[in-house]
Amino acid sequence: MILKRHRVHIHLVSGLFFLALVLILATSIILFVRLQPVGDIGTARKGVVSEQTLVKNNTTHYPVFHDPKIDAVMETYVKGESLAFEKATEHKKDVRNHLAITYELRQFGTRTATVGFTRLESIVGEPDRISRKDVVIDLIEKREIGAKDIIQQTPTARRNLAYLLHDYFKQQTSMSLTPAQLVGLLDIQLTDITDISLSANDVIFSLNPYNPKSSEGKAFIAISRPLLKGIINDAYSVTDPNVKPVSEQSAQFRIVSQPPKGNTINPAGKLIALTFDDGPSDATPQLLDALDAYQSQATFFVLGHLASTYAATLQRMVREGNEIGNHTWNHPNLRLQNQAGLDSQILATQSAIQAATGGYTPVLVRPPYGFTNSAVKQYLASHGLKEALWNADTNDWKDRDPQVIYDRIMTDARDGQVILIHDIYPASVQAATRAIRDLKIQGYQIVTVSELYKYR
Ligand code: ZN
Repeated sequence: MILKRHRVHIHLVSGLFFLALVLILATSIILFVRLQPVGDIGTARKGVVSEQTLVKNNTTHYPVFHDPKIDAVMETYVKGESLAFEKATEHKKDVRNHLAITYELRQFGTRTATVGFTRLESIVGEPDRISRKDVVIDLIEKREIGAKDIIQQTPTARRNLAYLLHDYFKQQTSMSLTPAQLVGLLDIQLTDITDISLSANDVIFSLNPYNPKSSEGKAFIAISRPLLKGIINDAYSVTDPNVKPVSEQSAQFRIVSQPPKGNTINPAGKLIALTFDDGPSDATPQLLDALDAYQSQATFFVLGHLASTYAATLQRMVREGNEIGNHTWNHPNLRLQNQAGLDSQILATQSAIQAATGGYTPVLVRPPYGFTNSAVKQYLASHGLKEALWNADTNDWKDRDPQVIYDRIMTDARDGQVILIHDIYPASVQAATRAIRDLKIQGYQIVTVSELYKYR
């Protein structure tokens, strides 16, 4: 009896041992298979990155870029962590202590690569500890870069960044601060920001909504790169066309447009919305200059087929707080479209605008010629879109005379008015530029259509 029991016990032990062996083997195979694609990451630099493993009483993986300087950064990090772990466990030696470092190559382009390390520390008798660290590498300068390299070190840049973030912080916290107070607070706290990483389309900030400087309770907030022009250094602001988004970090919150100016609008004052259809065109930047100079915002109902050509202009519209509306792909009569036709006119335009701006999604649609019906309205509503017509038409396409168009804008100007202009005619842009100045002199607040709808 005793002997038999003993044998069962041995069988159990060897069985477990065998099972462990199989598991280790399977894990290695899975790891090997899973890590294989790492070698081909980035079409631009095929084969440049491979994998290195450091095994001691720990399992550590890190990417190898086959560049002595960059590889030294990686090795310094993992070996440093390894040494720190050995030191921490010096007096509690146990074969079951284990340090595991894994990584994800989050973004890999011609200029930068972001490596996200995850560190799992298991010490017997203590709860497991997980920590993460993103290492951003400048592949041209061959060194690790941080917030101080990526963010422009000027008060204006910091303030504009604080402004982009303030809406998020207002939503997350119960702080009853005015936007200006919140921006001021953030501005001070952003001086020392350290946690920053790059993804294909965004710059990701890891911040604590209650105390942006604290390392506890951090949230990942992504800001689309086009919005950060003038805030981060140009080398890092453009979406790299050669970038391979390996695995996008999932941010809890993504900022793709300027926070609404709503809280600076005085609803008791005169409000007017200028709308510009059929563009963008080469004349549009002149209009944006005038809007910017007079702290005004307009709404641009753009055509989908022009979005990629005028991507920089669309990005500027968004950055300066203007609204972009959907004016279909190529200006057909929507009443004559079937379901597939509406999809290719409306949804394709939404996608083109999103692609050009780094994620901005229009909420307003202006049917060409104002031609609409219940089917069109129902279609738009089913996609969460709102129809936006006008109540004053400059007929600028008929009379391409700056004086005539200017006079019509000024004659039609009234509180709550939505004025139709086209930014594809230089005469219209010239007239509107003058009208923006004179409307401001007359005390109008020139706002976007969505903002006007909020109050009128
Ligand atoms: Zn039109």
